[in-house]
Amino acid sequence: MNNKYELIYEGKAKKVFTHDDADKVIIEFKDDATAFNALKKAKFEGKGKLNCLISARIFEILIKNNIPTHFIKLENENTMITKKIKVIPLEIVLRNTAYGSLCKQTNIKPGTSLEKPLIDIYLKNDELNDPLITKDRIELMKILRSKDLDLILDLTLKINEILIRFFKNIKLKLVDFKLEFGFDIKNNILLGDEISPDNCRLWDLNQKNDTIVSLDKDLFRNDLGGLIEAYREIYRRINDFL
Ligand code: UDP
Repeated sequence: MNNKYELIYEGKAKKVFTHDDADKVIIEFKDDATAFNALKKAKFEGKGKLNCLISARIFEILIKNNIPTHFIKLENENTMITKKIKVIPLEIVLRNTAYGSLCKQTNIKPGTSLEKPLIDIYLKNDELNDPLITKDRIELMKILRSKDLDLILDLTLKINEILIRFFKNIKLKLVDFKLEFGFDIKNNILLGDEISPDNCRLWDLNQKNDTIVSLDKDLFRNDLGGLIEAYREIYRRINDFL
């Protein structure tokens, strides 16, 4: 990154830099991968670029469907320009199919289709290990007003409908995903962060039987290998479709 831009924040998978316009930032996607609250770490050459390109495509689709997002444009293959937002410290997880932590914490069997989408909200706090949080605790902690939380939940359900439809077209099942939101300088709520195989579970629908073939970060979480090949395949399918 050009050194005239100042690093504002470095997270596990992204760096955020200042932009010439004070209401914008530059986000650089890194090749680093972490799982289990960063207990497991690795680097995958090309992951940053693929997640940046995939996220940009998905943000464009969401914007066309009137979802307010922070995305402005791709700068190059691993950086994008976005609106500057104050990130709300919540991770909004929507699940269509039971998997991952839901199955570890309940007696629901992995792969069970949920009758309606389930939204789980986690407090974004590494020291506390991102605990599951309730609506009442969010109000108690004064993280968000109830009407803003309702707006976020409503947006999450709409995003789910758009993404299920889109991924189905490219033969992928959207099992679950995690979103983050924030306030822009005018106090509008915008979708932030990224939407990529790092924070979505995507299963290949091109399988003859019910075998689960993950094309997402579970390949790293579960040491299955082939992560870059899977991310590249997702990007290829998106581009072939659009
Ligand atoms: N997720 C994420 N960041 C997190 C935790 C979860 O992006 O810190 C995503 C994850 O990729 C999956 C969904 O949220 O698509 C649900 O994850 P789950 O709660 O099942 O947690 P996990 O099994 O990853 O521990």
